[in-house]
Amino acid sequence: MTDRVTNPKIVKELCERYGFRFKKGLGQNFLIDESVVEDTIVGTGITRNTSVIEIGPGFGSLTQSLLEAAKDVTAIELDSNLIPVLTDLFGSAENFHLINADVLKTDLNQIIQNEDTVVVANLPYYITTPIVSALLEKRYPLKSITVMVQKEVAKRMVATCREKDYGALSCMVDYYTNASILRDVKPHCFTPQPSVDSSIVLMKLLKTPKVNPKDEAVYFKTVKAVFLQRRKTLLNGLSNSGFFSQTKEEITSILEELGYSPTVRGETLSIQDFCRISDQLSQR
Ligand code: SAM
Repeated sequence: MTDRVTNPKIVKELCERYGFRFKKGLGQNFLIDESVVEDTIVGTGITRNTSVIEIGPGFGSLTQSLLEAAKDVTAIELDSNLIPVLTDLFGSAENFHLINADVLKTDLNQIIQNEDTVVVANLPYYITTPIVSALLEKRYPLKSITVMVQKEVAKRMVATCREKDYGALSCMVDYYTNASILRDVKPHCFTPQPSVDSSIVLMKLLKTPKVNPKDEAVYFKTVKAVFLQRRKTLLNGLSNSGFFSQTKEEITSILEELGYSPTVRGETLSIQDFCRISDQLSQR
């Protein structure tokens, strides 16, 4: 088809033709701004060699241009009411594959065929963090993950230590990826309009994480313990969490031996610092 799905007239026509109603519960705000689509594709670096896994295609605002730019697109859509629409629009394209499923219950290893595979998603805001966490923690052999998320979440994803938005999510993203914000997106770029601003985040996946803790589970517990109680000191965060077997005195001496004041706050620590502390906590 030559008409762009980002055209509001086309969106209206599709709604009428298929009796489609937007579901707030599935975060259905569809893109109607072609420049956002363009910036997503260019910013991600998609070429004719790229295989794309698109999460939540909706009416296909991104899908349409992805199919033109990439080698192939596998779209995973949860809402079964969108399947006939997507099949009618793109089913004749040989490089289009559609899966009607919840991405959180889908094993992407079954889909990833080559090293040049990326994920692109305009995510429903209510499940942004679970989806991003699942994609990163499963260590899928992806080149990158590009996600449109609420602007506030994007800031937390890319924040570095000592910045206001730095937290457990920043530490997780920094552990697995090099992340940056491609651009901000205003509510008028969607229909229906969301009540918040959005941003597109590009995460380039690393072959191995930036730090190499002795015990990854203890490393992530250390990060979680510190940020669960943001306003507490490093010592209180760790000792009140109940995650570790050491007494408060033992944790104090671990921190002092490593040269950290027990009264510093967690947000001043980098992932390298968390790694050093967790290595000691996992040893004793
Ligand atoms: N990509 C389209 C666009 O930009 O216009 C639609 C984006 S809309 C914000 C989010 C899409 O994700 C919706 O189509 C929704 O039905 C779908 N979705 C919601 N939860 C999902 C899940 N768990 N797995 C797969 N798709 C999901």
